[in-house]
Amino acid sequence: MDDVDVLVVGAGPAGSTAAFRLAAHGHRVVVVEEHPRVGLPVQCAGLVSQRVLDLAGSDSFVRAPVRGASVFGPSLGSISFRAEFPRAFVIERSGLDIYLADRAARAGAEYRTATTFEHRLEADGVRERVRLRAPDGSIRELSARVVIGADGVSSAVARAYRLRRPVEILPAFEAEFPKSPGDADTVEVYLGRRLSPGLFGWWIPDGAGGARVGVACDADGTSAKAYFDRLVAHLSRRFGAPLGSATAYLASGIPIGTLPRTHGDRVLLVGDAAAQVKPLSGGGIFTGMRCAEIAAAVVHEGLERGDLSAVALAEYDRAWRAELGEELRRALYLRRIFVRLSDDELDAVIAALKGSESETTIVAFGDIDFPTHVVRELLGRSPSLLRLLPKALGAWVAPGTAYRVPDLEPGPLRK
Ligand SMILES: Cc1cc2nc3c(=O)[nH]c(=O)nc-3n(C[C@H](O)[C@H](O)[C@H](O)COP(=O)(O)OP(=O)(O)OC[C@H]3O[C@@H](n4cnc5c(N)ncnc54)[C@H](O)[C@@H]3O)c2cc1C
Repeated sequence: MDDVDVLVVGAGPAGSTAAFRLAAHGHRVVVVEEHPRVGLPVQCAGLVSQRVLDLAGSDSFVRAPVRGASVFGPSLGSISFRAEFPRAFVIERSGLDIYLADRAARAGAEYRTATTFEHRLEADGVRERVRLRAPDGSIRELSARVVIGADGVSSAVARAYRLRRPVEILPAFEAEFPKSPGDADTVEVYLGRRLSPGLFGWWIPDGAGGARVGVACDADGTSAKAYFDRLVAHLSRRFGAPLGSATAYLASGIPIGTLPRTHGDRVLLVGDAAAQVKPLSGGGIFTGMRCAEIAAAVVHEGLERGDLSAVALAEYDRAWRAELGEELRRALYLRRIFVRLSDDELDAVIAALKGSESETTIVAFGDIDFPTHVVRELLGRSPSLLRLLPKALGAWVAPGTAYRVPDLEPGPLRK
């Protein structure tokens, strides 16, 4: 049986970031990835902030900068804004995963692809013994001083260690259209119950004359694919030309609502496995990578001190929540208000934004990783917008109040 210091399950951005940091400290790290190739299949629209490039220490996987965005309401009134400098980047998502895995491997992490974490075997109080399925289908055992579950939304590690699941998992469906009409550095977002109830639909230029089109929505009985088909039909009408043939379809889920606990004895969860995802956009690359860095620092200290108990690893839970928890909580609160808005109310919100200085405010305060800041600024500067939304938000934006969400339960569903 193999004995290692750290077993990382999953070679996505979170897993490879943790593996890199720990291997660079000289620990023996093994990363298992169930797919034969790191980075494939792609399950992402690939829109990230400069912070992701900074965390990776590279921009080699960037395809194009994004300067503008247009948000369309249910009746297709829209608000558009454009920044002087790039505010986001469209990346080759498989390129990011491969780059990060390569960086970790160069630091000494060992990658085993086509290898699946199956479950936890009995632990002896010092090491974790786990069962892996090897590429030839055979069963292997491995023992590790600590296990990092970076295995995405359906985390087998979370299940094996009885760590609770996210509050919601939003179904998502996306496809790539190699040739698409549309503005090459502007992202389009579509709101409303007809096209994507619960989150939004998107059209994202791919930097090579095509686009990534997708939806993430409530699990309301209609499939994400059906909403996707509606969005594609709508886009074809809007552009006055069909989007052409799609390639690379993907169906996946987006976890929303962080877990009450992301650690246990000799185990941590990072990234989508820990639902470290922004509730207002479903984006999780920045949050997952940053939390993986925090996880690696805590695990390194635990390995050095010989204490990987739940008590010692609780520092990870505390530290990532101290850095990102409040933003995720606020965003979850705003999301709960957002999903209760009717189409008429959403249209009214777009109209109120259009009639104000909101474009300037959005350009000044917009940040795809910390979107609640711009929401608070918009509400604070636009009484007509505030009147459309639940009263509790008024307290949130009043001058001098602490920058905390009032309560996580914004009241009954408004039809
Ligand atoms: C349609 C869609 C569009 C998105 N668009 C964006 C976007 O534009 N920007 C953004 O920031 N985020 C986006 N996201 C979210 C983003 O993709 C995730 O937050 C991010 O991939 C999480 O990284 P991760 O490393 O935690 O997990 P993942 O990237 O999911 O990686 C987990 C890895 O674990 C492997 N694995 C799973 N189970 C096992 C097992 N039992 N054994 C071994 N390996 C296993 C998987 O094969 C996978 O490689 C999108 C998500 C979806 C669904």
